[in-house]
Amino acid sequence: MNRVYNFSAGPSMLPLSVLEKCAADMVSYGESGMSVMEMSHRSPDYDAIIKKAEADLRTLMNIPDNYKVLFLQGGASTQFASVPLNLLPVGGKADYIVSGQFSGKAYKEAQKYGDVVEVASSKADNFTYVPKTTRDSFRKDAAYVHICYNNTIYGTKYPEIPDTGDIPLVADMSSCIISEPVDVSKFGVIYAGAQKNMAPAGLTLVIVREDLLGRARPECPTMLDWKTMAENDSMYNTPPCWCIYVAGLVYEWILNMGGLEKMKEINVKKANILYDYLDSQDYYIAPVKKESRSLMNVTFVTGDADLDKKFASEAAKAGLKNLKGHRSVGGMRASIYNAMPIEGVEALVAFMKDFAEKNPKA
Ligand SMILES: *Cc1c(COP(=O)(O)O)cnc(C)c1O
Repeated sequence: MNRVYNFSAGPSMLPLSVLEKCAADMVSYGESGMSVMEMSHRSPDYDAIIKKAEADLRTLMNIPDNYKVLFLQGGASTQFASVPLNLLPVGGKADYIVSGQFSGKAYKEAQKYGDVVEVASSKADNFTYVPKTTRDSFRKDAAYVHICYNNTIYGTKYPEIPDTGDIPLVADMSSCIISEPVDVSKFGVIYAGAQKNMAPAGLTLVIVREDLLGRARPECPTMLDWKTMAENDSMYNTPPCWCIYVAGLVYEWILNMGGLEKMKEINVKKANILYDYLDSQDYYIAPVKKESRSLMNVTFVTGDADLDKKFASEAAKAGLKNLKGHRSVGGMRASIYNAMPIEGVEALVAFMKDFAEKNPKA
């Protein structure tokens, strides 16, 4: 079976060695005589799996001791509600920066729970950059500020962490988690759906500073209450066992290659291959402002919707899959997460050159 280069925004590629390890363990994990999928989450074998996954993630991201790591379900979208339910007091305020669709959804969800305002947005410019803010952009009495650190659909990323002063910063990192080092101590909460850069769909990671636990509103469902989940080591109920196991293998894969510094070096190299090419020609247009470019999601268009369509379909035939942009924006998007090998990006650029030659614009 030939593997293709899968540029899907999510679920997306996993490292081949991780998939092979999963296959080897599929029917019987170690000496257990059963698959991880069949294991009790309270068994000693599984206990070792989840503890190692957490320990490896802590090492990888250099997570300070006063932060809890939670392995939850519901996707990043459930956290759009969990964030206000855990952090926004009744009658309280929260500030949102809207830099794309997901942050827009998070903002809309939070509005159900209190005085929630959009303090900055790049919507008027089709989300081609992330808005700049200063401490003064935020209300002094806001319970938190929410951002989406990497905007999967538009291909933008914050060049630096916004300064919110003493106000806890909450970040959706679904599409850039573990792609490069981040200073966790600058955030109150980091959350991420796993299916972009960590594991199969079904797992949601939450990293939360301990002093932010215990503030949940009375109506917060038990399953969404971070404190309950923290007190039960993510095992208040059955966790997404298999996904946590795969996430653990992915953490180990990155640690073995040299950690997030090394991962970043590779990701920068991959992204530069694409951006350097995009900047060197005028057949394709990269709409994102340079300082906001994402390392993970690279968007471009030909300027002709029919050509864009042809591009995605011919690329797919050449083994370069899922290059069609998000249904809401069109054009092309190459998601080049951790598991995308450099050869995949090189193959894409070669295809782009060839396509441009064979399909001159009128
Ligand atoms: C994919 C994505 C989401 C939605 O994730 P689900 O796990 O499907 O809910 C939210 N935010 C960002 C930044 C994403 O990339």
